[in-house]
Amino acid sequence: MPDAKTMVAASAALPDRYDPAEIEVRWQKRWDENPELYRAEPESSGRPKYYVLEMLPYPSGQLHMGHVRNYSIGDALARYMWMQGYNVLHPMGWDAFGLPAENAALKNQTPPRQWTLENIAHMRRQMRRLGLSYDWQNEITTCLPDYYRWTQWFFLRMLEQDLAFRKQSKVNWCPLCATVLANEQVIDGCCWRHEDTVVEQRDLEQWFLRTTKYAQELLDGLDKLPGWPEKVRTMQRNWIGRSEGATVEFVLDPTPETARSQGKAPLPAPPDFVAGAPLAEDAVRIPVYTTRLDTIFGATSLQLAPQHPLTKQFAQGDERLAAEIATLVEEQKKARDAGDAASVDKHGSFTGHYAINPFNGERLPIWVSNYILHEYGTGAVMSVPAHDERDYEFARKYGLEVRIVVLPRRSQEPPAAGRPDEPVLPYVEEDSLLINSGEYNALGCQEAQQKLAAFAQEHGFGRPTVSFRLKDWGVSRQRYWGAPIPVLYCPKDGIVPVPDDQLPVLLPDQVEITQQDGSPLGRISDFVNATCPRCGGPARRETDTMDTFVDSSWYFYRYPDAHNESAPFSRQKIDYWFPIDQYIGGVEHAILHLIYSRFWTRFMRDLGMIGNDEPATRLFTQGMVIRNGAKMSKSKGNVVSPDDMVARYGADATRMYALFAAPPDRDLDWQEDGVAGVSRFLGRVFRLGMRYRAVVRRHAGQAPAAPASPLAQTLLRKLHQTIRKITQDFAGRWHFNTCIAAVMELVNEITAAEPALEAMPAEDSTALMATLLPALILLLAPFAPYLAAELWSEIGGTGSLLRQPWPAFDPDLAREQELEIPVQVNGKLRAVVRLSPDAGSEDMQQAALAEPKVQAAIAGKQVVKIVVVPGKLINIVVK
Ligand SMILES: [Zn+2]
Ligand SMILES: [Zn+2]
Repeated sequence: MPDAKTMVAASAALPDRYDPAEIEVRWQKRWDENPELYRAEPESSGRPKYYVLEMLPYPSGQLHMGHVRNYSIGDALARYMWMQGYNVLHPMGWDAFGLPAENAALKNQTPPRQWTLENIAHMRRQMRRLGLSYDWQNEITTCLPDYYRWTQWFFLRMLEQDLAFRKQSKVNWCPLCATVLANEQVIDGCCWRHEDTVVEQRDLEQWFLRTTKYAQELLDGLDKLPGWPEKVRTMQRNWIGRSEGATVEFVLDPTPETARSQGKAPLPAPPDFVAGAPLAEDAVRIPVYTTRLDTIFGATSLQLAPQHPLTKQFAQGDERLAAEIATLVEEQKKARDAGDAASVDKHGSFTGHYAINPFNGERLPIWVSNYILHEYGTGAVMSVPAHDERDYEFARKYGLEVRIVVLPRRSQEPPAAGRPDEPVLPYVEEDSLLINSGEYNALGCQEAQQKLAAFAQEHGFGRPTVSFRLKDWGVSRQRYWGAPIPVLYCPKDGIVPVPDDQLPVLLPDQVEITQQDGSPLGRISDFVNATCPRCGGPARRETDTMDTFVDSSWYFYRYPDAHNESAPFSRQKIDYWFPIDQYIGGVEHAILHLIYSRFWTRFMRDLGMIGNDEPATRLFTQGMVIRNGAKMSKSKGNVVSPDDMVARYGADATRMYALFAAPPDRDLDWQEDGVAGVSRFLGRVFRLGMRYRAVVRRHAGQAPAAPASPLAQTLLRKLHQTIRKITQDFAGRWHFNTCIAAVMELVNEITAAEPALEAMPAEDSTALMATLLPALILLLAPFAPYLAAELWSEIGGTGSLLRQPWPAFDPDLAREQELEIPVQVNGKLRAVVRLSPDAGSEDMQQAALAEPKVQAAIAGKQVVKIVVVPGKLINIVVK
């Protein structure tokens, strides 16, 4: 970065040179010295509130261009809303726990806390240098005890509500992170942080948060978020993955029939079978979940997961089967380790047992197979090969019966010449009718599903069932740098929560970080060995820490009350500031952070801590910053450093380019030429301002009369059109690129008019510039705050630009000049009408026919046609 003092000296020699470093460093110092500048007013403020928030960064140590873009959008909006008279809350903080701090500790022998806090200090300086309008008095840092104390406090409330619980489960394990990952952190079978590292499965006892409690509500809420991008809502809908189906209980046939069959087809029902008849006391029920109950008459086998309890039972005393099951388990594991359990090469074995279909009494052979996953549904599937892709593939491989029970609707016509019009298998459409299904024949699929489920429920062997893809959130991490989970294990009392008045459970400072053998905290005896708060005896402290996504699930509720020492926040402040009016961040958080924080919001609402259902009314996801067509990354060598850009072109030019180079929702291909171009434009604005500053200053205090000359009208029209465009864009479209282009056009027109201005009477040109220049500065303020502040001061403006009202546009002045359009009757000029250039053909005809002279000319005649040449001529043909 250039030395500020040298820059000042250089600029003194060249007063008209635009020197962003000198201007920006000087203004930054003034702003830094004024802690009130960006401070939100209390709830008693009479002004409407506006909470604008950019997602808080991970303190990696350096801002990248993606950050600069994200924050430039939020900052422009915050400044604009201040100028619109709102009470604006615009805070910033640090998502400061997480694995990179531990990796850095291993590499550089720097303690994670020190590494993190140094990075934060550096990034905060970078943000200040960019002129971002954050209220640093509300800054939060999730790795500091004054914050994570409340993260732990919330965990205890979840424990009380049965929303936090322990269970043994298969977990995703990243060998590089040496920790468990949530389902949301596994991308295509690999770690979200290590995209080439395949996630393994391990059995561990873990802490979970019961996100599934709110599955339905999280889904329904998406319909009430019109201010969120449709793509984010769709991603969440798919992730929550609601499906409507039914659970039906098959019954184990107590008499094995191995001798009679190879398990290729069902055996017929016993003659005395009655659907829905009460079952024997000792009947072994096998629940099956299906979304296609309408196809149950087409079930020709039952498929069990290798881990299903029944398969274990069957395997006892059957060495052949036991060995085959072991192989199937191994195959599943391999497919999982390869990243895609669904891609397994399908294998299975007939168990020699049968299960009774509760609707028709048929006895279906029970198979055990590797494509059935124990953790999904019930671990048992009714196999309907004719109407399911996977079942079809399996049945073809093993020669199992394929029975069609659903036909396309068009096939219900009598087949021509006895040729059955059979569907191509597997036929999975639901727009169809049932056959081969007893009394349910000829019903539509949906109707059959309802009737079958109702019958099952009525007779006690099933029920309609809604299922979700969303799973509970595994939050245990065997890592050091996270919020300790505030529980103890007592030999007498079991799991004992840490009492609230003993929070926070502090992370010890002196820790040897390794990535082997579980949590580093487990090796610190002072931490592990504790006293049980219930019995006073010795207890062991939980050594897992919480997933960092826990910290960020509630952080934005802390900003309005960041220094509260007796509660996470006061409800009064949250009721005032929430929901967030505009949240801005990357689409990569659509599933993780944005589902977790919607879950957390509902949990706090049900505790009575807040009143809102959703955290944010509007969400904006900006595009990526790329370079040479690729995402910026060190390995590709295409990283552009924000510091370099700021040093070379200034913060204003860097920020404004980030808004100008592409619509904010699209990817932005970073071109340094473009930044240079924006910098040159700002230089032109600077010089324009300096040329007229004295004139405007002399004029200060007088209401500038709008001069009537045609030139003045043209310039004022352009000004008001620009104001209108930017004002309307801020309200919704956010095409800041075209907003900035409009400001550029305005500056071009003013500059081009300068010679003519000189020729005007001084009084008129002064009045005109006294109108144009201050408005231009106000329009620039959200995009180039430093230059705007400098010019505002140069023209004699006082106070912060944030407190200046945003210029209002005058629709009359903004209207395009009217055109004079001749009206002919049979080719002869009869009148001239004045119309806007964008008047349509209909408007032109009406205006022409309304003219008295035209009416006189066509009186008593028949109008044959009206020829309209838009913007030019109207000719009425009469006879
Ligand atoms: Zn990893
Ligand atoms: Zn105890």
